[in-house]
Amino acid sequence: MWYFASPRIVFGQDALSELERLQGRQAFIVTDPTIVELGFAARVQAHLETAGIASTLFAQVEPEPSVQTALRCAQAMTACEPDWIIGLGGGSSLDIAKAAWLLYERPDVEPADINPFQDFGLRAKARLIAIPTTSGTGSEATYATVLTDTQENRKLGLGTYELLPDIAIVDPSLVTSLPPHITADTGMDALTHAIEGYISINHNDFSDGLCLKATQLVFQYLPRAYADGDDAQAREHMHNAATLAGLGFGNSMAMLAHAMGHSLGALFHIPHGRAVGLFLPYTIEYTLNGGGTRYADIAYALRLPAQDEPQGAAQLVQAIRALQRRLDMPTRLADIPISRSAFQDALPRLVANAETDTSLIMGPRIPTSDELEKLFLYAFEGQSVDF
Ligand code: NAD
Repeated sequence: MWYFASPRIVFGQDALSELERLQGRQAFIVTDPTIVELGFAARVQAHLETAGIASTLFAQVEPEPSVQTALRCAQAMTACEPDWIIGLGGGSSLDIAKAAWLLYERPDVEPADINPFQDFGLRAKARLIAIPTTSGTGSEATYATVLTDTQENRKLGLGTYELLPDIAIVDPSLVTSLPPHITADTGMDALTHAIEGYISINHNDFSDGLCLKATQLVFQYLPRAYADGDDAQAREHMHNAATLAGLGFGNSMAMLAHAMGHSLGALFHIPHGRAVGLFLPYTIEYTLNGGGTRYADIAYALRLPAQDEPQGAAQLVQAIRALQRRLDMPTRLADIPISRSAFQDALPRLVANAETDTSLIMGPRIPTSDELEKLFLYAFEGQSVDF
C-alpha cells in the first residue's frame, strides 16, 4: 500500500484571485524583499482584504535560506497568531513558510528534527497556501523544506507529509518578471526533479506520468521562456511543469544529482537549480553504467532516437547538454567558475555532505565514497563518466 499526496491546485491566469474565496481571520505572508518590490505581496494582500482577512508580512527570506531565518519567522508568526500561512516566492520563501509553520504549531520541536516518521499534529492553528513565483522547485506540491545550516555549510533536506500545502496557487502572471538566469536555473531544477523522480527506486505509476509530462514541457518551453520572458504560453507551461515535477518527485524521490547539488550549493553558494542541473548528465551516465534503469522511456517521450537503454540514456544526456548550452549554463564545475585549489580543498567535505544527504540512496545505483569523489572530479573537468 502507498499514498499519493497533492495539495488542491489552482492554476492558470488569475489563479491568485482564489484567495478571495478563503475564509479566515488572519494571514501571515512569508516572502522576500524582491517579491515585495515587484508588488506581488500587495496583490496578495488586496485579494485577502476582499475576503475580509487581515494580513501581516514577513519579507526577510534570503536565497537558500538558513535555519535561523526559519526560527525568526516562526517567532514573528507566533506573535501574529495567523490561521492562514501564505508562502509567496521562490522555493526559499515557500520552504521557510513550511518550516516556520511547523515551529509555530509545535514550538517544542527543533528545525533539524522535522522528519517524516513523526506525527506533529499540524493544522491545529493554521493551514498553508503556497504561491510560487519561480518555475522550478515544485515546493508548492511537496512536503519538503530545505534549510541551510550556515555553521556547518550544509543543506538540511527536511520534511513531513503534514507540511504538504493545503492549496497551491500556480499563477503564471507571477513569473513573467523572472530574469533569464533565474528562469534557466529554476527550469533546470524542474527538469532534474522530473528525471530523477522517474528513475528513483520510489517511482510509481502516479509519479511516472507526472514526471514524463513535466520533462516534455521543460524541453519544449524552457528555451522559449529563457529567450523571451514575455512569451506567455511558454511561461504558463513552464509554471505548470515545475508543479507537475514537484508532484512527481514529491511522490517518488529525488536522487544523486540532488545529493551532489545540495553539497556543492551549500559550500560554494551556488543556486540550487544550477547545482543540481549541472550534475544531472553525469549522474545519468553513472546510474546507467550500473544497469537496470529506465532512461530510454524518457528518451522515447522526447522522441529522441533510441533503440535500447544505453542509447536512450546517451541521447538524453546529449539533449540535456544541448539544453544547457541554449540556456548559457555551465556544464562543468570549472566553468561555474570554481578554482581548482578551492575545489580540491573542499572535495572531502563535498563527498562527506553528499553522503549524508537523504537523496543519495534513492537511486538504483548508490555510489561508494571513492565513486562519489570521482563523480565530483569528472564533473569538475567535464569528463564523461566511464565507471
Ligand atoms: P529562490 O526562492 O531562492 O529565489 C531566487 C531569486 O529569485 C531570489 O532573489 C528571489 O527574490 C528571486 N525571484 C523569485 N521570484 C521572482 C520573480 N517572479 N521575479 C523576479 N525575481 C524573482 O529560488 P528557488 O530556486 O525558487 O528556490 C531555491 C530554494 O528551494 C533552495 O533553498 C532549494 O534547496 C529549495 N528547494 C526546495 C524544494 C522543496 O521541495 N521544498 C525543492 C527544490 C528546491
